[in-house]
Amino acid sequence: MDLIVKHARPVAAPETLVDIGVEAGRIVAIGPGLAGDSEVYDAGGRLACAGLVETHIHLDKSRIIDRCPLPEGRRVNPVTIVAPLKAAMSVEDIYARAETTLKECLVNGATRMRTQVEIDPAIGLRGFAAIRALAKAYKWAIDIEPCVFPQDGLTNYPGTEELLVEALKAGAPVLGAAPRYDSDPTVQIDRIFALAREYDVDLDLHLDVGDSTEHMDIRRVLELTEQYRRGGRVVVGHMAKLSLMPPAQSAAMARRLAGAGIAVTVLPATDLYLMGRDRDHDVRRGVADANHLHEHGVTCSLSSNNILNPATPYGDCSLIRIANLHANILQVVGAVRLRELFLMLSEHSARLLNLTDYGLAVGNPADIVVIDAATPEQAVAEIRPPLAVWKRGRRTVTRQPPVLHTPSP
Ligand SMILES: [Zn+2]
Repeated sequence: MDLIVKHARPVAAPETLVDIGVEAGRIVAIGPGLAGDSEVYDAGGRLACAGLVETHIHLDKSRIIDRCPLPEGRRVNPVTIVAPLKAAMSVEDIYARAETTLKECLVNGATRMRTQVEIDPAIGLRGFAAIRALAKAYKWAIDIEPCVFPQDGLTNYPGTEELLVEALKAGAPVLGAAPRYDSDPTVQIDRIFALAREYDVDLDLHLDVGDSTEHMDIRRVLELTEQYRRGGRVVVGHMAKLSLMPPAQSAAMARRLAGAGIAVTVLPATDLYLMGRDRDHDVRRGVADANHLHEHGVTCSLSSNNILNPATPYGDCSLIRIANLHANILQVVGAVRLRELFLMLSEHSARLLNLTDYGLAVGNPADIVVIDAATPEQAVAEIRPPLAVWKRGRRTVTRQPPVLHTPSP
């Protein structure tokens, strides 16, 4: 063996201590008392998982908050703030900002990622080119899957669909959408489903952010997912409007989503920041309850969405912090639910992305993250950091715990 990670607590069974044996980039053994002439890392009874999975992050428009005017009044439309900046974004500019954000994701334990990439006549395919180059350059540390989508509308923005098709023909594996910003949301959804069928790609749509449940795009997405039998290949992000429904109603919707095979990514930082802007007091939180969705059978992930831009002006790329934020917003208590939230950064996220080789199991790539916690629930409750990360058996991150210099007596 090349490496043995000793005394680790796997997320699936943190009450047991195991050693993880790695050879030629893969996990070859898991059990107690592994020995061999190999490099040894002593996890010291800490939690280990196969890496955190960022399922929804806009690397291409991260770190632009300093270029944006401050919003006037309570209403904020991040899309109209960002749109005028796009023409001036070069491939080099996008790459540099995305790279800085990606490095933060890496030190916070991400080993897999789906990143949303905007495509339209203003940005052209420059974002796609930058992210593809970045994915190639950082293959040693993370697997990145781009999801191309129209942020500023499809039916109302001539030239966008042609560019999306170009990206799909160039190998983009996932297609997204943002029907809310289209003059005809339903037609955008229909076109996106048609393209997904034509190019045989998975779908990951931004859906249902707003102040009322009167109109919900999820209804059309449910119809088309069932009609075209796309179950298991459709993800919807945000779903903030679920937070406006009484529990019985959101439970019924959750069961429909689960039945149709539609997974949900909850984006707590963005929705907490953007929802409830119609009110100047008693502001609603506006974040869908991932534990509630999970309870009714929906595959859920929690993700960052944006970092340092008008949709989310804050963030350090810590997914564990996002799970903690969700726990605070949704008033989550108890070890069982906190553990579920950790799984929505790892195992469940991997399922949502249809990753078939994720997890601490013999035969899988040796993606291993040791976190400074004894249990997943402690990691979420205390926002415990990752201390060491391996990608395909190679060490990619080392993080030292801080030292307190106690005076001698
Ligand atoms: Zn997004």
